[in-house]
Amino acid sequence: MNNLTTETRLTLLYILIAFAFSVAMRMIWFYQFNGNEAFMFNNQLMINTNDGYVWAEGARDLLSGVSQEYDLSPITSAISRITAFFAYILPFSFETVILYIPVFLSSLVVIPIILIARDLDNLELGLIAAMFASITWSYYNRTMMGYFDTDMLNIVLPMFLLWSIIWAIDTKQDKFLLITAIDILIYRWWYPQSYALEFSFFGLILLYTLIWDRKNLYNYKLLAIMMFAMINLDGFIRFPLILVAFYIFKQEKYQKYIYYILALSVVLFFYTGGFNPILSKLKAYVFTDVVKIGEEGLKLHFYSVMQTVREAGHIPFETFANRISGHTITFVLSIVGYIYLAYRHKIMLFAVPMIGLGFLASVGGLRFTIYAVPILAFGIAFLITEVSRVMPSKKLKYLSMIAFTLAIIYPNYKHIESYRVPTVFNSEEVEILSELGSIADREDYVISWWDYGYPIRYYSDVKTLVDGNKHLGSMNFPVSFMLTNSQDASAKMARLDVEYTEKAFSISEKNKTLPISERVKVSTNIEEMTKDYGFSDTNDFLLSLGTDIKLPNKTRDIYFYLPYRMLNIYPTVSMFSNIDLMTGETKPPAFFYVSRFFKENKNILNLGRGVLFDLQKQTVKLGNQEVPVKRFVQTSYDKDMKFQKEVKVSNPMADISIIYMSSYNIFLILDEKSYNSLYVKLMILNEYDKSLFEPVLSNMHAKIYKLKI
Ligand code: MG
Repeated sequence: MNNLTTETRLTLLYILIAFAFSVAMRMIWFYQFNGNEAFMFNNQLMINTNDGYVWAEGARDLLSGVSQEYDLSPITSAISRITAFFAYILPFSFETVILYIPVFLSSLVVIPIILIARDLDNLELGLIAAMFASITWSYYNRTMMGYFDTDMLNIVLPMFLLWSIIWAIDTKQDKFLLITAIDILIYRWWYPQSYALEFSFFGLILLYTLIWDRKNLYNYKLLAIMMFAMINLDGFIRFPLILVAFYIFKQEKYQKYIYYILALSVVLFFYTGGFNPILSKLKAYVFTDVVKIGEEGLKLHFYSVMQTVREAGHIPFETFANRISGHTITFVLSIVGYIYLAYRHKIMLFAVPMIGLGFLASVGGLRFTIYAVPILAFGIAFLITEVSRVMPSKKLKYLSMIAFTLAIIYPNYKHIESYRVPTVFNSEEVEILSELGSIADREDYVISWWDYGYPIRYYSDVKTLVDGNKHLGSMNFPVSFMLTNSQDASAKMARLDVEYTEKAFSISEKNKTLPISERVKVSTNIEEMTKDYGFSDTNDFLLSLGTDIKLPNKTRDIYFYLPYRMLNIYPTVSMFSNIDLMTGETKPPAFFYVSRFFKENKNILNLGRGVLFDLQKQTVKLGNQEVPVKRFVQTSYDKDMKFQKEVKVSNPMADISIIYMSSYNIFLILDEKSYNSLYVKLMILNEYDKSLFEPVLSNMHAKIYKLKI
């Protein structure tokens, strides 16, 4: 260490301090939840983001060397590969690795921040900005412990890119040409949508070169090598290309060819389709189509997931400011500070694309705010160092620095302390899935709503029909139909949809090897079924499921995973199949109401939201309408988890039933169609058709049945 300069030693020290601080703050969540059995599996806390399970599936398959056809496991994704690598070399359990990996990778953001500050000859600025940015509200939310998703490097990598661009422009050292290009390679590998930021950085450097520094050959080398890194070819081709370019750039005799090389890189970029993603983004903005209707064939109308996600709408200023800086005042001062910083150090203008992307949040959704976090952290940190610089004594200088830093960190610390995100699943849901994994084959399908798709595939190592990425209206329709319709029709639909899904995969796989004219066109499963069974109206086909139709050959087993928590989203699940596919008209919504808070008063049971159950008359008042109750059912589990049920029918012709699930202490008020649905019959009433289903596993939180047909 002796031959390091004081500045380098201080840089390393500050990086260590900021890194340790970032890790320590992320451990708060661990200590809040650790030891709570409901959140643990394999003696470790589980992760808290649904998408994390798909990357975990990919990493698990990489480690075990399993690769299956059409299982959608992302074994080629960068995040799964890195995770598998760490799980392989580290002496910790896989569950531990996926829990901690966001903590350590996201904390790396402190390194480029401090290195950029070093270029500005203001290391204190770097330390303050790094500590602040690493734990600020939205950055914390998307990189906290257990938030196992690509976000953990999505800011780190562009910050390294910004650092190498700033150092390249400032120092004109050759090595930064190579570092910048490699940064782009890694960033693109990690996050294929990174082209937007890369292209903005490229544009800014071009602008800077043309206006202020046109004569400097170095800038053209930088632009050319960035372009080579961005062309639309595999990384294994781009990497040697970059090395060749770098080698040529370093030779004195080739300097006169630089412009030609730049021209070549631009031609290659466009020729390989490097500009296409940007072009298609622009097109998507110009032509936004809301309703998705098949263009050929039956022109079926499907319900779209976007329709169920609440409109992004207007984001209040305070929310926006909190996400970026933790507090409105900090946010305003950060902007002032950044403007002042960019005025004093023009080089910081290269950070504008990241602020721009962050401010896109006001139209594109809150997830974008994290891009602005580190840049505005520079703003507020610069103000702090400038104010403390004019303090009369050295002691006051440092005291004020510490006081101001604590003040801006405090609201973010309070946020972290209160942000107690639960794990995606609880331990009982996971135990049953993990047990299913030892029963089911990995080629078998488990049917459940798409929200549960990734965790099911991770814990049970099976296939699913829908998941966090595969949930178009046409894919959700059959699953929604199965969960909310009669056992008989649902069982047939399950066999049909699974076999049609596999068939569609193999057709599209075969298509890849055929010339375009010979490719077989496949539309949605439901349309294919309708046509194969000789109908031109999907409604007629759906009705035929109630009759004795011939099913396709069984290639594998099918299981139903029915979690208790789906009660909360049953009305949403039902919407996806409660639509006339031929006309797009939605049918009247299912009546399905869950009451958790109720009180009895003189034979009237108040179930909340204007729902009153008259125990004497056996009627229920829904708002100002009073209807008879068909049956009242009470379910319970005894000490040995044996299921008990009592059914009292009072008005056989009525439509509404009431179920009291005494072990959960909740009431269900539901119509006859919901009462007879597969979900209610199998999960809540244990009334399964023995010729169609076989119970496999169950506990208070979930039930699993096997399809017999
Ligand atoms: Mg698998």
